[in-house]
Amino acid sequence: MDTITKILKEKGQRFTSQKKEVFCILKHKPQTVLEILNSLTAKNYLMDKTTIYRILMSFEELGLVREVNLGDREIRYELANNEHHHHLVCEKCRSIEDVELNEAELLREVKNQSSFKIKSHSLEFFGICKKCQ
Ligand SMILES: [Zn+2]
Ligand SMILES: [Zn+2]
Ligand SMILES: [Zn+2]
Repeated sequence: MDTITKILKEKGQRFTSQKKEVFCILKHKPQTVLEILNSLTAKNYLMDKTTIYRILMSFEELGLVREVNLGDREIRYELANNEHHHHLVCEKCRSIEDVELNEAELLREVKNQSSFKIKSHSLEFFGICKKCQ
């Protein structure tokens, strides 16, 4: 049994085919509800926005999915199974890549410069991806 099936089972939930589809689409890249809807439609899988939203909320509650903010007011969702990381966003094709940074030094510097109690941070990079160059 894979992890997600196990987590859902522990919470008394079933890994329905609808949940499977949403989960599968999120494997590729962070997406908005509308993008998920379009991806599903492209696969001839019909699901309404409310259902997708409800699935995302339940995934988020279980810690399977997290919100990604790329500074454009859109909320995207991505699978939360990987390490803390940042994003590279292509301004031409809007593709999104993950990048992991060694940021201990940076975090220490921020801490030294303020008495702010930091809970989280996001740091995204914008430019042109390899394919679009
Ligand atoms: Zn970071
Ligand atoms: Zn691109
Ligand atoms: Zn990511």
